[in-house]
Amino acid sequence: MKIGVFGGTFNPPHKGHTRLVTEFCEKLGLDRVLIIPDKAPVHKSAEGLESDTDRLNMCRLVFCDKRFEVSDIEIKRDTDSYTVYTLREIKKIYPDDDLYLIIGSDMFLMFSRWYEYREILSMCTLCVASRCEEESLDELRRYSENELKIPIDGLTGKGIIISPVEPFEISSTELRSLLKTGESTEKYLDGKVRKYIEDRGLYGYPKK
Ligand code: ATP
Repeated sequence: MKIGVFGGTFNPPHKGHTRLVTEFCEKLGLDRVLIIPDKAPVHKSAEGLESDTDRLNMCRLVFCDKRFEVSDIEIKRDTDSYTVYTLREIKKIYPDDDLYLIIGSDMFLMFSRWYEYREILSMCTLCVASRCEEESLDELRRYSENELKIPIDGLTGKGIIISPVEPFEISSTELRSLLKTGESTEKYLDGKVRKYIEDRGLYGYPKK
């Protein structure tokens, strides 16, 4: 089987996330994608972070295609949410399957700083999509070549695939600020997640 792995803070999950996963799912013919909310983010501060349960629940609302499985593997684990630990665990469950790790370009452009990134590259194919217009595909290629020492020919290199799709520019940080100021989020946020946020009084919403 071809198994996608998509980790994130998902605080909250938005249409940029679903578009990214759906795009790679279709393009690569993935049989299953594990959506994995992290517990204690290694790369970011935890300020304004909603609970593990709320982020899991919101992911379940939005990643509802039957190929998607929202997993609490990182939330349940006692160690840091390092991707390499997660992939080792997934490899034990699926030793003979091919893993595809899906990430946005912001994460890719600091990939050489990820803990044990060489081991990560040995365990999976890295699937990267650009997050904003300014980051050209050339910049991603250059990073791969100069930092990771992996040349990209066209849009692929050894163990790396770059998506040519136009970026969908939104982040959870921007969404949290739209929610705070009461601006419209329809374009970026799934209606079920919006309702969940309102019902639970997340991100500064007065609790119903
Ligand atoms: P925050 O603004 O809180 O940092 P975020 O929007 O970056 O959050 P994360 O949950 O940290 O979302 O991201 C999970 C993964 O999804 C990362 O690999 C990130 O690069 C990718 N990603 C997030 N938003 C987009 C987007 N709009 N387009 C493509 N990839 C995205």
